Amino acid sequence: MPLPKFPKPILLTKAALGTLAFVSALVILSGLVTIAFSEMRRDANWIDDARAGQAARAAIKSFQSRLGATVRDNAIWDDAYLRMQSPAGAAWAYENWGKVSADYPLYDVAVVLTPTLGVLSAYKKGIAFDPMKDFGAGLLRLVANSAATEPAASTAFIPTQEGLYVVAADRIQPYDSRPEVSTLHTLVYAKLLTPDVVGQLETTFDITGLRLAPAPLQEELSMPLLGPDGRAVAYFEWPSRLPGDQAFAHVHGYLIAAAMVLACIFAGLLRVGIRTAGRHKNDAERFRLRASHDDLTGLANRTGLAEAFDKRQLPAALAIVDLDGFKEVNDAWGHDVGDSLIQGVAARLREAVPEGTVARLGGDEFALLTDPGEMSTVAARVLTVMEREFVIDGRTIEVGASIGFASPEDGCDRLELMRRADMALYHVKENGRGHAGSYLPELDRDRAMRTGLEDRLRKAIAAGEVQPFFQPLVDSKSREIKGVEALARWRTEAGPVSPEVFIPLAERSGLIDDLGKLMLRQALGAAMQWNGIYVSVNVSPSQLKNPRFAEDVIAIVYETGFDPRRLMLEVTEGVLIANPEQAKRSMEALRKLGIKFALDDFGSGYASIGALREFGFDRMKIDRSLVVELDDPKGLKILNATVALADALGISVTAEGVETEKQAEALFCAGCDQLQGYLVGRPKDVLQFNAFVANRLATA
Ligand code: C2E
Ligand code: CA
Ligand code: CA
Repeated sequence: MPLPKFPKPILLTKAALGTLAFVSALVILSGLVTIAFSEMRRDANWIDDARAGQAARAAIKSFQSRLGATVRDNAIWDDAYLRMQSPAGAAWAYENWGKVSADYPLYDVAVVLTPTLGVLSAYKKGIAFDPMKDFGAGLLRLVANSAATEPAASTAFIPTQEGLYVVAADRIQPYDSRPEVSTLHTLVYAKLLTPDVVGQLETTFDITGLRLAPAPLQEELSMPLLGPDGRAVAYFEWPSRLPGDQAFAHVHGYLIAAAMVLACIFAGLLRVGIRTAGRHKNDAERFRLRASHDDLTGLANRTGLAEAFDKRQLPAALAIVDLDGFKEVNDAWGHDVGDSLIQGVAARLREAVPEGTVARLGGDEFALLTDPGEMSTVAARVLTVMEREFVIDGRTIEVGASIGFASPEDGCDRLELMRRADMALYHVKENGRGHAGSYLPELDRDRAMRTGLEDRLRKAIAAGEVQPFFQPLVDSKSREIKGVEALARWRTEAGPVSPEVFIPLAERSGLIDDLGKLMLRQALGAAMQWNGIYVSVNVSPSQLKNPRFAEDVIAIVYETGFDPRRLMLEVTEGVLIANPEQAKRSMEALRKLGIKFALDDFGSGYASIGALREFGFDRMKIDRSLVVELDDPKGLKILNATVALADALGISVTAEGVETEKQAEALFCAGCDQLQGYLVGRPKDVLQFNAFVANRLATA
């Protein structure tokens, strides 16, 4: 049986690796996409935040420089310079600047300081106030800075009780000349950063949510407003507009959908991958087991047996167990029943050999490995467990076992041990099966001789060289010919070979079916001409075990045109033992055509009279060994009792091997109705038998 094909494990690993690589690629890909999206989002946010930062810086700068430019415009003014040097300076300052502060959009505060930093004029929203109290030291610092910022005004932010002011200061000076700084007055403008002002900046510079804060929450979303000393006095702060987040929110749904699709693909692939990997693992495991185990029974196979043999530390004895009658079970009930039977047998063998190795070599052949000292016990145990019948699908099935075994000797390796056990098994099967036997060197010698003969017999059967001889069966009283028994004869160049030799050989080598058919065809062909007498043809037990037997006989009967009611088949008791059910079925089928059955060699074995009835035999043939005993009174008694019983069952009796008149007399008296033997006629070929019949008819 060829081993079922399996993918090689190495290929499985490759496939698993492929799936793994694909899944990994998918994971990396989704990872990259996720990173790309979050980077894009972050960058978009960052770019916008940076833009807002720049806008804020620009807003502050323009806010400061606008005030700075205004203060400078007013400070560099010839008229103003001259006025400041005069006693009417304060009044002039009020008219031109202090009063204006009441409702001028560019500044809320206008202050003029003297060169010694005294307050000449100070107005807030048109009302006089004390700038030193409101702006304090910051104002003086700013003024001091203005020397350094020349030719521009100096600006800064100064916090006050009211709020944050942007303040700008510049020296009041003539347009053309540059008088000594220490002689100059200073003009200071300040503008309060009211929410309105901040709101204007927010709109102009597009910084949504811009507001003032004492300290920033987030560095990147704020801009310091610097005081006169260069330190932050407050902050502009604004929330991030997070355009990246917004953009992300837009595509979010699509992304989630894409991710879900990807996740599904991923999960699917992973599942397939895991399954495939699992299957591959199982396949590999099964492949490993298959290589050394038999599928049907789970026993070790030939490879497994070899492994077990090699692993053993101590030498092992090997037995081969072959089922008797398995083929018939298979043929009669089908392969499913056959398979179940094999499984049942495997279980029994394990039961009988709990410690050694049990293997199935194939078909109905098993092998056992045990310690050499235990082999005979084990073999006996196997025969015992096989005696119990098997029940399969409600059918009761009996199979026997033949066992051949061999013990290791020096230089006897596994293969030689196997060969020897096989040889022993062969010998057991030749000698009636159903027992166990050990290998002996003589078996090898016999075998060599026999194989030559078997070959020649096969050829002789094929060439029709095995022919029937005919021996008359006569009425015990009138000696009239009632029938004829066909006996096989084989003449070789070396001389005739006895049927006692070639019939068992044909049975052992499977040639018996062909030989039987050949004999039947020839016997019926010849007997067509002998009207009024029946023809007895011998049938081996192994022929009757074949489920095709009845079919074959019927075909030959039709083929020759022989009247089936004139045909008698002789079977020995072996058939009652080996496979009774099949034999019964075949006999029933043939009996329907009118074919009769005789139990051959009765008295030579164990067949009971009961069996005669059970199988529906029409006649029994008393074996020559009983006839020979007739001289002895005890033998006569046995014969009388036997015939009386058969008579009571309505079965007629033929006596075989009748050689003397005395025997014939006794048999007639006992109740045998037909005789066969040298006394009434030896086996003859067709021509001789024709002459014999003609002669008899003439003398009658
Ligand atoms: P069997 O069926 O019991 O056949 C009777 C045997 O007794 C024959 O031996 C026959 O020649 C022999 N015989 C007949 N009368 C006498 C006698 O008065 N004295 C002695 N000593 N022997 C006598 P044979 O022809 O050698 O056949 C031997 C056995 O071979 C047969 O025994 C039968 O079992 C088997 N055989 C022969 N032909 C066939 C066959 O065609 N098919 C099968 N299956 N078996 C056959
Ligand atoms: Ca016979
Ligand atoms: Ca016989």
